[in-house]
Amino acid sequence: MSELTLQGVSKGYNHGRPNEVRVLQGVDLSVAPGEVVALVAPSGAGKSTLLHIAGLLDTPDEGRVSIGGEDMTDLSDRRRTAARRREVGFIYQFHHLLPEFSAEENIVLPQLANGVARAEASRRARGLLETVGVGERASHRPAALSGGEQQRVAYCRALANRPRLLLADEPTGNLDPATSERVFAALMELVRGTGLAALIATHNLELAGRMDRVVRLDAGRVVD
Ligand code: ADP
Ligand code: ADP
Repeated sequence: MSELTLQGVSKGYNHGRPNEVRVLQGVDLSVAPGEVVALVAPSGAGKSTLLHIAGLLDTPDEGRVSIGGEDMTDLSDRRRTAARRREVGFIYQFHHLLPEFSAEENIVLPQLANGVARAEASRRARGLLETVGVGERASHRPAALSGGEQQRVAYCRALANRPRLLLADEPTGNLDPATSERVFAALMELVRGTGLAALIATHNLELAGRMDRVVRLDAGRVVD
């Protein structure tokens, strides 16, 4: 079983026009439960396109996408959105936390939207913040936190609804090397505690080398 499977995924932009760009050309990729895979790609190679397709934000022109063994390729937009909210957590280079809410509230809100009771949502948020070493700062707003703390809160938010699949795009990208190191360790701690599958795009080869497997996006295909 694999949590994420892409089979023969192709995607282009500007269909049929002379300037059509074929970004992905038959991508095959699987990520097993509990596996952390690094995705390394030069800029412009189609990394964002691949993450958007894997995360059900976009659909392939050809090929199949499944998450948790369920084929998601032909779902209606409404069902795809529902599946994304249920199954996928996203982390970006910047934290995108809501500035007017505390760290804890930022992790509670997506759970309330998902039907989790407030007491349970708070309990889960505090547990996640403890795991990444930000438990003491739970009631602070993002602006009162350091860059590394903000990013760790964003990791907790991504995992708040217990997704099967975590997709991250340069999760330590805007941090200095020392902070990056500590924050990456916190991310691994979170991921290892849940057994979810993770696909983490990074330019940092040192961090990539510490994941279970490294895949490279090259000329529209994924190579191990
Ligand atoms: P990366 O994340 O690796 O930098 P992207 O997936 O963002 O790469 O983009 C890959 C290629 O596809 C680039 O040449 C980009 O210009 C093109 N592209 C991405 N999104 C679109 C779009 N919505 N319309 C047209 N071209 C796009
Ligand atoms: P909400 O449940 O708050 O309405 P969405 O279902 O819109 O959130 O989005 C779910 C996840 O997908 C969020 O983590 C959000 O950041 C991410 N997301 C939504 N739209 C995009 C997009 N166009 N590009 C990148 N990420 C997106």
